[in-house]
Amino acid sequence: MSLLDALGGAPAVHECSRAGCRTAASWSIGWRNPKIHGSDRVKVWVACDEHVDFLREFLAARDFPLTVGPLGSISEAGARSR
Ligand SMILES: [Zn+2]
Repeated sequence: MSLLDALGGAPAVHECSRAGCRTAASWSIGWRNPKIHGSDRVKVWVACDEHVDFLREFLAARDFPLTVGPLGSISEAGARSR
């Protein structure tokens, strides 16, 4: 998700994906847009306790398939698989 992650450096701190929120995330939200993403594609947002419901409803309102789980339980897929 970040360069630090890729390098295995400092412990990863994921900030909430909600615009303007700098709180450390504790949830992962995996989702995709069926109109532009294939079924093997997963995008991941992360969310703090306060915004996990906001982000889930944001995606659900668009009829995007989504999965919510504890931070780190969902991995992005399909974009740059090796
Ligand atoms: Zn937040």
